[in-house]
Parts: sequence; structure tokens; C-alpha cells
Amino acid sequence: MKCNFCGTKLNGYEKYCHNCGSKVVSENTTIDEFHKSTESARSTSIVLGVISLIGLFFIIFTPISLILSFIGLILAVKSNHNSKNTAGIIINVVGLFLSVVFMIVISLVIYFGFFAIDKGIDTIIDYNNRIYERS
Ligand SMILES: [Zn+2]
Repeated sequence: MKCNFCGTKLNGYEKYCHNCGSKVVSENTTIDEFHKSTESARSTSIVLGVISLIGLFFIIFTPISLILSFIGLILAVKSNHNSKNTAGIIINVVGLFLSVVFMIVISLVIYFGFFAIDKGIDTIIDYNNRIYERS
């Protein structure tokens, strides 16, 4: 068994080539199976990429809502000296909390989205190498 990328002899149980580090595809993997996995990687990476882009759009606005909640909270606490503005405080604390949670969630979505794109590209490169090897 040889590496599809650099041609180094492999032991057969290696997942990645010890010479060039490219992914090892076993000889009994059919082109069909490989094509399927490439297709699913491609569509998954597209979906996750779109979600990431939407996430990027939202993450621009999340700090604004965070700042607005913070200002609202200060105003609510200040006005509390004169009148009981408990509702204002609660609303802005909830706003702050949701902004932070949302930022964390969106960050994770973006992180895993780009990770999946990277993996998808890897699979497609592997696939192209394999096609090249066969032809
Ligand atoms: Zn190699």
C-alpha cells in the first residue's frame, strides 16, 4: 500500500501518511464510497459555511445589544433611587445575559463551521488526488 499523495510505502494501518501527512485512503474504498463521502462533506461544509456567515452578521450586532443593555442597566439602577424600576433592571440583566450567551453560541457556530469547511476541502483534495492516481 502506497500513499496517494507522495507514494511512500505505508504499513497499512496508518490513518495519515508518515511522510507527507496526507490522509490515507484504503485500497478497498471504492470510488463510489469516496464520491459519496466527498459529496456529503461538500454539502455539510456549504450549510455550515452559510450558518457561519449568518453568525458573522449577527456577531456584529451582538456587542451593540450588549452595550445597549449595559447602558439600560445603569440607567435603570440610577432611576431606582427615585422610583422602583425593578422591571427595567430585570429586562436589562436578561438582555446582558442573552447577549453574552448569544455571542458564545455564535462564536462556537463560526468555529465549527470553519472547521467543517477545512475538513470538506481536505476530503475534496483527497478525492482529486485519488482520481488523478487512477487516470
Ligand atoms: Zn505521503
